[in-house]
Amino acid sequence: MNEKIKKYYELFEKWNAKMNLMSISSEAEFVDKHVKDVEKLIPYLKEVKTLVDLGSGAGVPGILIKIMKPKVDVTLVEATRKKVSFCEEVVRSLKLKEILPIWGRAEDEGLMRGLGAFGAVVSRATWDLKKYLMIADRYADGGGLCIAMKGSRWSEELREAGEFIEKSDLDLIETSEYKLEGGEKRAILIFKKALLQPPEKE
Ligand code: SAH
Repeated sequence: MNEKIKKYYELFEKWNAKMNLMSISSEAEFVDKHVKDVEKLIPYLKEVKTLVDLGSGAGVPGILIKIMKPKVDVTLVEATRKKVSFCEEVVRSLKLKEILPIWGRAEDEGLMRGLGAFGAVVSRATWDLKKYLMIADRYADGGGLCIAMKGSRWSEELREAGEFIEKSDLDLIETSEYKLEGGEKRAILIFKKALLQPPEKE
């Protein structure tokens, strides 16, 4: 395993003994449920330079993306202070650069304005798809991606979000369904935000 991922897990194990960060009980489970899950996302980030992870928790997927793709500038937004402190500790210990954990609520207008627009917005296990897209759209740059990492209910959520998506400037461009080694069904949904203005013709 990558040295940084190993160190991340060790820190997680240490902190998790005192506070409930995630319900993970072994390194193997951490690798299957987190590392392998985030690996599935990496091929979609080829063009991405800046990314925000909303409701990052103990840093998934944001910290793992930073480790796997160090050139991407990563921002983590998390509402629970102790989880942000943990992410800060991981950033310090692993000497990660261009990654900023922020304590705040994703739908906070001031935060949205302050952070500006990102090439990709990502989130796992936070809001239902419709609510997520309503928030994520605000953080995405024109032409940027809003990525949802979902569980087995994804198609139902997609139906429920249908009307919103129809009216929005987001287009579903890719759906990838897969299973974790433990058998759990997961899916990645990728939406692309329309460019504000079409590029001018010569
Ligand atoms: N993405 C992580 C954590 C999922 S749990 C993972 O997949 O492991 C959901 C997280 O979202 C929690 O840590 C919770 O504190 C955070 N959260 C809930 N509402 C939020 C909000 N409005 N803004 C930012 N974070 C929020």
